[in-house]
Amino acid sequence: MTASTGVTLVPESVCQLRPQGVKYVRLNGQAPAATLYRDALHPYSKGLLGSFPALRGARRELAGIPGSPPDLAGMPSGCSFHPRCPRAFEPCSSAIPVLGRPDTPDGAGRSVACWLHPAGQTVG
Ligand code: SF4
Repeated sequence: MTASTGVTLVPESVCQLRPQGVKYVRLNGQAPAATLYRDALHPYSKGLLGSFPALRGARRELAGIPGSPPDLAGMPSGCSFHPRCPRAFEPCSSAIPVLGRPDTPDGAGRSVACWLHPAGQTVG
């Protein structure tokens, strides 16, 4: 994705797939690429970023994301990442987080759907 300002946007994560005749994905956030790499907000994004080696700098241990991707025929309730999320808490298993602008200093340029970052302003 590319914003009209020329800033490249990267989906912060996509973790909900629902087969309903036509498959679609639920966008769990977006941010300028540099912001995402510097400070990913969504735990799935953080997991992805920790799953591959840095191209520069010191070597570090790869963390990975525990467990397996969900069965598309039986998606988990609430946030579909909750069975694998290291930050899951009470609302995650029962309510789907809303995509919104996070309450961060750079929140106007990004969005995230995670109960750790309640939507200050709903988007999409
Ligand atoms: S909504 Fe909950 S389970 Fe989903 S990514 Fe955020 S903290 Fe994890």
